[in-house]
Amino acid sequence: MRKLIAVFLFCPVLLAQTQQQQQTPWPYRSTPQTAAAQQESFPPELLNELESIKLAALADDYAYHQVAHLTNNIGPRLSGSPQAKAAVDYVAGELRKLGLDVQLEEVKVPHWVRGAETAELTAYAGQVPGTVQKIVLTALGGSTATPVDGLNADVVVVNNFDELRALGRDKVGGKIVLFNELFDQKKAAAGLSFVAYGEAVRYRGAGPKAAADLGAVAALVRSVGNADYRLPHTGYSAPAGIPAGAVTAEDADLIARLSLQGNVRMRLTLTPQKLLDATGYNVIGDLKGSEHPEQIVVVSGHLDSWDLGTGAIDDAAGVAVAMETAEVLKQLGLHPKRTLRVIAWIDEESGGAGSRAYAADHTNEFPHHVAAIECDTGAAHPLGFDARISAAAAELLRPALNVLQSFGANALQPTNYAPGADISAMSDAGVPALGILQDGRTYFNYHHTAADTLDKIVPLELRENAAAMVVMGYALASMKNPLPR
Ligand SMILES: [Zn+2]
Repeated sequence: MRKLIAVFLFCPVLLAQTQQQQQTPWPYRSTPQTAAAQQESFPPELLNELESIKLAALADDYAYHQVAHLTNNIGPRLSGSPQAKAAVDYVAGELRKLGLDVQLEEVKVPHWVRGAETAELTAYAGQVPGTVQKIVLTALGGSTATPVDGLNADVVVVNNFDELRALGRDKVGGKIVLFNELFDQKKAAAGLSFVAYGEAVRYRGAGPKAAADLGAVAALVRSVGNADYRLPHTGYSAPAGIPAGAVTAEDADLIARLSLQGNVRMRLTLTPQKLLDATGYNVIGDLKGSEHPEQIVVVSGHLDSWDLGTGAIDDAAGVAVAMETAEVLKQLGLHPKRTLRVIAWIDEESGGAGSRAYAADHTNEFPHHVAAIECDTGAAHPLGFDARISAAAAELLRPALNVLQSFGANALQPTNYAPGADISAMSDAGVPALGILQDGRTYFNYHHTAADTLDKIVPLELRENAAAMVVMGYALASMKNPLPR
């Protein structure tokens, strides 16, 4: 221990950080005035309620049963699909059973269905006669189709947008472009999986369009994920007007190695269909506040999922822990002072039509939206919250976070972006926004793959997430004054 302290004191980097923290008012310094304000916001009776809520949630498998139903009985819930609608009806029914005032907010959503997806390398330098190499891949959301019997073209491999631009139209036109940007597994292993994701995912999002703009006939990206099980990861990609897919990391490596030896020719077959837009719904369930029903605290997750797995960690888990907020309060007979609004968002994965509709329909209420929480980073052990809130707000929340300290979910990590795609419009409008901060080291092993299934959820960890959501939701809805902005 002493040795560690010595290292801490004399390491120039850590010393600089310490000095910086001493000058930073938040969240490292608490003044007597802060302590008084915290006590006023969280009187002993409220703290006792929060403690009871935590214990009830940690002993409750309600959220797990919800995830089980959404994944086992309903299955994949791609935006626009019959399963997405079944999930809307199910969640609305469950929230009504809990006594909530439930509204379905209608919105047009894309309706895209996956088709065949195969690829082979049909010719490459050093090929043994008669051999083809199978490529494991999946279509990205919204991809257009190849001819039914596939298209044949040479593959050009680029590692980033600069390399693509350098090749130019001459070398990209008529080709299949493969973006081979690596997902940084070391960052993920060290707990920075969302940083790794952010670095790589822009090629999935914008790569196909960039390739199409230079005349490519199709675009592939290396899967954005960190497991080595030859699993392709699908996901949103900006409409590019050409077929777009994700190959597994292993197959991206294979193509890259062969392309160093010479031309690589691929037959690519992707036959998804874009159907007419469908009707989707945000499920909005209000537990009316006893004193300030017009003031709203949102607890939420998204109900739609990708179609390869059953969307357990992304994001039945988030919807389920938001639902449990209502269930635990009912169980304990507690009524928040402000309205707790449970939202199961639609279309997070395929373009965000649900959250856009909410922002358009509820803009006038945003001044009375006290805070919004979304859980959309999995179901693993929670460490606390990512929060885009003011320094004053962060200090006031400390007593609520202290309730979560017993299982380690008491960290508050300031962010300068909305910690949840569906609450970003609210956050941009000034509504304090929080996301549950989880151990994300394995999240991108499964995210958007066929392996996002119920077995990836550890019941104890899901209970911890529910406890974090219910405690923070009730704290925000019942603390003395609305959280300052
Ligand atoms: Zn998600």
